[in-house]
Amino acid sequence: MKNGIMMQCFEWYAYSDGGFYRWLKDQLDHLYSIGINALWLPPACKATGTNDVGYGIYDLYDLGEFDQKGAVRTKYGTKEELLDLIATAQEKGFCVYADVVLNHKAGADYAQTFQAVEVSAQNRLETISEPYDIDGWTGFDFSARDGKYSDFIWNYNHFTGVDFDGKTGKTSIFKILGEGKDWAQGVSMEYGNFDYLMFADIDHRHPDVVEELFAWSDWFCQETKVDGYRLDALKHINDFFMRDFTRHSRKDKEDFYVFGEYWAADGDMVHNYAEQTEYEIDLLDVALHFNFYRAAQENEHYDLRTLFDNSLVQKKPLLAVTFVDNHDSQPDQALSSWVEDWFKPLAYGAILLRKDGYPCIFFGDYYGIGGDYLVEDKKDIIEKLLLCRKSFAYGEQNDYFETSNCIGWVRLGDEEHPYPSATLMSNHEEGTIRMFVGEQFANATFADYLGNHTEKVLIDGEGFGEFLVTGRSISCWVQDNVVLEEEE
Ligand code: CA
Repeated sequence: MKNGIMMQCFEWYAYSDGGFYRWLKDQLDHLYSIGINALWLPPACKATGTNDVGYGIYDLYDLGEFDQKGAVRTKYGTKEELLDLIATAQEKGFCVYADVVLNHKAGADYAQTFQAVEVSAQNRLETISEPYDIDGWTGFDFSARDGKYSDFIWNYNHFTGVDFDGKTGKTSIFKILGEGKDWAQGVSMEYGNFDYLMFADIDHRHPDVVEELFAWSDWFCQETKVDGYRLDALKHINDFFMRDFTRHSRKDKEDFYVFGEYWAADGDMVHNYAEQTEYEIDLLDVALHFNFYRAAQENEHYDLRTLFDNSLVQKKPLLAVTFVDNHDSQPDQALSSWVEDWFKPLAYGAILLRKDGYPCIFFGDYYGIGGDYLVEDKKDIIEKLLLCRKSFAYGEQNDYFETSNCIGWVRLGDEEHPYPSATLMSNHEEGTIRMFVGEQFANATFADYLGNHTEKVLIDGEGFGEFLVTGRSISCWVQDNVVLEEEE
């Protein structure tokens, strides 16, 4: 949904008790009232156990319906509860996006014997053993599902690699051998070839696999009625397969929304991927996330004028899903690059108050994160920014990226929303920037909508104001005492 606001509705450690779908259903009215209108749900398919976030995916056709991997439900609840959540959310006006994990499968039903070679973990193109027989966990027959929805049985021919040999107990990266078999092309070239990530890596060149995954997509959309997909682990999957899969998922519904995760701090790599997949897939703006991360780490030494440099939102604004943090960047995760608390209001201001990008709010920021990695919720500031966006972030955008420690921009408003806003952020001391909000506002008084600065700013006869921001903070100045018409 363009011009919408998405929430990533989960974090790594939340809600293993099976009550998540029910809990989220109860939150829907509240989330809609603060301005969220799209939900990225956690991976819905049965994974290795009820504590699995969903990325250790076992059975694509088990959405919490069959007694597999220790329970009928997934980490989040049953299929019935999932379908109820989706239908209820859509009735209330939300778009719902499913997290789709197609790179690998985990928790096979039985091991199989096949020929493989070990490759170097640092360079997967370098073979470091002779071919030999291993026992790899590649057999999936889902006996508890008993062929319902699909009778496809997975075997080692449907995979490119595994990381464990049951014969010897050895852990390594094993490339599966066979006629025409090799690592996927069109993947990240990190480690030589980054096809292999974890578990049993799916071979998307195998025609039976392609057919099965396309058929699964048809089934999944029909069952769940979701409005779109969030595609996981794109840099480990053949890019043409993902392009074709996306086209297939959109074949009967043009507005089916697809975005994906290509995890690379280098914006050029993400941009290159977008080009390779012929702009079929919107992409999470990982480069922007890393800019936020560095800005927070480097404090006043970071040049705020570079905050959007090399980001997708700068290069390809229509493709960018902007976010501050997610389940991978949160503390103690493999890709941990958590944006420190002090910078969170600035980062959320940067994705919510500017013109470009489809902003995604992270569950762990809005609700906080419990357990050992306690992170306080940021409901207050996120809600204020959302309201500010809804009321004042419209129309032409003029940047005033003045100094390395203080930047600002103005949104001039549009016909329907005639009130401008002037946003400033500082990563050091108090700052001031003279910005133009419109001659028609001469002699008007502006106040900081976010409440971080208590002074008032008088607009001069030419329509400029000397706007202020306190140190290490963000302010968004709007006309004082504006009474907005209540929207329905
Ligand atoms: Ca792969």
